[in-house]
Amino acid sequence: MESLQEMYARMGIGKQVYEYGESVLEKLAGRFSEIDRIAEYNQMKVVKAMQEQKVSEACLLGTTGYGYNDLGRDTLEVVYAGIFHTEDALVRPQITCGTHALALALMSNLRPGDELLSPVGKPYDTLEEVIGIRPSRGSLQEYGVTYRQVDLLPDGQFDYENIRKALNEKTRLVTIQRSKGYQTRPTLSVDRIGELISFIKRIKSDVICMVDNCYGEFVETIEPGEAGADMVVGSLIKNPGGGLAPIGGYIAGKRECVENAAFRLTSPGLGKEVGASLGVLKDFYQGIFLAPTVTASALKGAVFAANLYEPLGFAVVPDGRESRHDIIQAITFGSPEGVIAFCQGIQAAAPVDSHVTPEPWNMPGYDAEVIMAAGAFVSGSSIELSADGPIKPPYAVYFQGGLTWAHAKFGILKSLQFLVDRGIVQEMRLS
Ligand SMILES: *Cc1c(COP(=O)(O)O)cnc(C)c1O
Repeated sequence: MESLQEMYARMGIGKQVYEYGESVLEKLAGRFSEIDRIAEYNQMKVVKAMQEQKVSEACLLGTTGYGYNDLGRDTLEVVYAGIFHTEDALVRPQITCGTHALALALMSNLRPGDELLSPVGKPYDTLEEVIGIRPSRGSLQEYGVTYRQVDLLPDGQFDYENIRKALNEKTRLVTIQRSKGYQTRPTLSVDRIGELISFIKRIKSDVICMVDNCYGEFVETIEPGEAGADMVVGSLIKNPGGGLAPIGGYIAGKRECVENAAFRLTSPGLGKEVGASLGVLKDFYQGIFLAPTVTASALKGAVFAANLYEPLGFAVVPDGRESRHDIIQAITFGSPEGVIAFCQGIQAAAPVDSHVTPEPWNMPGYDAEVIMAAGAFVSGSSIELSADGPIKPPYAVYFQGGLTWAHAKFGILKSLQFLVDRGIVQEMRLS
């Protein structure tokens, strides 16, 4: 058998980049075994929930039409409730993406005259139109739901004083985003989310606390439901879909909150009783089964990338040593060429569409050109190896995913090889 290094050479990874990668990896054994322990724990959690609900071969089949008595769908929702430690869950292919799941959770649990509060600063971009921060047709604002926001303090701490002031008799729902998304604030650990929720509930016990859990699932051994969240919401084409779910979103939470969401997703009176699962259940089950190890692979990729690029003088968030609470890695290249080379390198490592070259383009909704790398089995899936970078200062890329650690590693080495080949990183710096 030829050596691993020879195999990498055939795949376009030169000796310097390979050896530099190995030297970085040598120092990460401790981090990686910690990630593996978390995955091991979460694997047991998932299997336990599946066994407790007696998932059977019949559950993997789907229904058509109205979808009454869909055994697999109904069982899967109890499995999710078990994994997320909540009373109930809604897990459906009819929830089209993460934004839809979040919009559904908000719109079904808020009524005209209510107020929504974000105590952790500006929410994810696509929620601005859901809430009406940016005027939009059908937003919560059009339905008479007002919005208040309290930013984090400059050091990333909660602004408890102003959160206390912002909570008022109208406040019905509090939305807490776990992941930093594409901002520079730190991602929140489940423990910190728990502290925030107990502070809020001490002031107003009947307020609904919702957590946007996107990119956070299975990164820790506990989920926000265990820290007091009334609703935990996310996308199945991120962590919990394990790369296999071809569509979908979930809302896990208090029975009443989940039922409200079901009555809005389908119809008042029908709720969870309808909604055929078609043919997706096998992938939903197998996806959640694989999700702990897939998330671990993505996390190892993120930690590797941080430790590979940081010594080369590029700013990385989180840094190489920080504890992780989501799978996103930001790397600042400081030049358009750096962002472009990185994304083209990631694309060149893809199993699908490796032969296409991404270029920056004017994406609707963005104020600068954006370059995106994605060679995914599921279109737009960001649990698969992917990256995107807006072509504007500070010229940072946001990198995430990797269904297997070996593939994440290859993608990251490939990105560095592109930077070296284009003279953006001097080869001598690698030794
Ligand atoms: C991805 C994401 C969303 C939106 O999910 P889509 O599936 O892209 O609609 C919302 N919040 C956070 C924190 C996310 O990472």
